[in-house]
Amino acid sequence: MAILPGLSKSAGLLGGQGLKKSDDMVRTYTLKNVRLETGFEYEGEEVVHTKTDLFSVNIGDGKIREILPNNPGNNNAIDAKGLLMLPAFKDMHIHLDKTFYGGSWQATRRRTGGVKGMIALEQEILPEMLKDSTNRAKKLIELLQSKGSSFARSHVNIEPTSKLQSLKNLEIALAQKKDGFKAELVAFPQHGVFYTDTVPYLKDAAQMDIDFIGGLDPYTIDGAIEKTIDFTVQLALDHNKGIDIHLHESGQSGLDTVTYLIKKVNENPVLRKKTFISHCFVLGKLEKTKQEEIAEQLGAAGVAIVSTIPFGSLIMPIPILYKHNVTVLTGNDSIIDHWNTWGSGSVLQKANLMAQLYGYATEFLLSRSLKLATANLLPLDDKGVQQWPKAGDAADFVLIDANCSAEAVSRVSPVQSLISQGNIVY
Ligand SMILES: [Zn+2]
Repeated sequence: MAILPGLSKSAGLLGGQGLKKSDDMVRTYTLKNVRLETGFEYEGEEVVHTKTDLFSVNIGDGKIREILPNNPGNNNAIDAKGLLMLPAFKDMHIHLDKTFYGGSWQATRRRTGGVKGMIALEQEILPEMLKDSTNRAKKLIELLQSKGSSFARSHVNIEPTSKLQSLKNLEIALAQKKDGFKAELVAFPQHGVFYTDTVPYLKDAAQMDIDFIGGLDPYTIDGAIEKTIDFTVQLALDHNKGIDIHLHESGQSGLDTVTYLIKKVNENPVLRKKTFISHCFVLGKLEKTKQEEIAEQLGAAGVAIVSTIPFGSLIMPIPILYKHNVTVLTGNDSIIDHWNTWGSGSVLQKANLMAQLYGYATEFLLSRSLKLATANLLPLDDKGVQQWPKAGDAADFVLIDANCSAEAVSRVSPVQSLISQGNIVY
C-alpha cells in the first residue's frame, strides 16, 4: 500500500469504494458530499436518531481548513459519495516491533512457566525475528491503516537480548511510513527490569526518541513492587516521559501495584494524565465496592487504563471506570505472534465488543462507544452538539460506509478511506 503525500484534485472517486489514489498530487483539496453528524434527534428524553448532513470540506497543509455547505456541482472537488467522516482511529496498545504478521500462519504453542516461560521463549526466537522486524512492522502498520488507524502507541522491547535493536528497527519502519502513520513509543522491559539486567538499556532508551517508560508485572517478574515502580517513576521524571506498564497480575500483588503507582503519581503531579496501566486485570477480579474505590482513585490521580476488552473468564469493569472519569483506551496488542493471534487490527471492532459486553445498545450509548476507537474524540458531545470536525483540526479522519457513529460501532462498518495529516493513505 503506497502512502501518498496528497491526492488528486481532478480524479474524483473510484466506483464507490474509497478515495482514488493518483500520482497527480496536491496539498490542498476539497471533498464534497461528506456526511457529518450534526445533532441528536430526541423522543422525550431518549436519543432515537443521529442527524447528519452533507458538507464540503476543504483540506490544506494537513489541516481541515474549512467546513462549507455542500456543493455537489463543484467538479474540482473529490466526491466522498455520502460516506460518513469520523476521526481517524488510534490503536493505543500494540507491539509493532514484534510480530509474525506478514509471514506464515503460526498458532500459539502450549505454554509452560507463565510470563517467565514466555521470556525464555523470547530469548530464543527474538534474534531471528529481529532480522525481519522492520519489514513486519511496515506490514502491520498497513493492516492498521486499512482498519482506519493512523496512530498507534507501540510498546517496543528493551531487554538484553534485543538491546536497542528492536527500537531501531521499528524507527526505520515508522520513518518510512511517516506520511500516513504516527506512533508514540513505550520502552518496554519485556524481560523484567531487574529479572534480566535491563536497567542500562532502559536508561539508554530513555535518552532516545521514546515517549513512555514501560513495565511488566513488577512482583511476578522482578520480585519487588516498590523497587521496580520507584525505578520506573524516577526514569520517567528524569527524562520527562510518561509511564505505561503492563500489569497482568490479578491477585493482591496486582492491587498493591495499582495503589502504589497511584500513590507515586499523587506525589509527582507531573505524571498525572501521563500514566497508564495496560490490562490491569486485577480490576476485573475485585468486589464491586473495591472496584468503585480503586476507579475513583484512578480517576482522581489521572491514571488511565488501556484495555484490550477481554471477555470470557475476565470482564473488566469499564462502565465503572467511565463513571469515575477514568480515561479508557484500547488497542489490538497482538495481531499474530507468540502471545496470541486474535487481533484483527480494528479498534472499531473493540468498540463493538465493548458495546456488546456492557449492553451499550441504544443510539446514544452506541454513539458514545465510538470513543474507544478514537481515543476519546467524538463528533458530537453528550448533548448532541457538534464538536468535531472544526476548522483548524488536524486532517486525520476516516470515510466509512455508515450513516452515523452508532451504526459504525454496531455494524463494524467498513472503512473506505483513511486520511492522515491531509494525506490520503488509501
Ligand atoms: Zn502488550
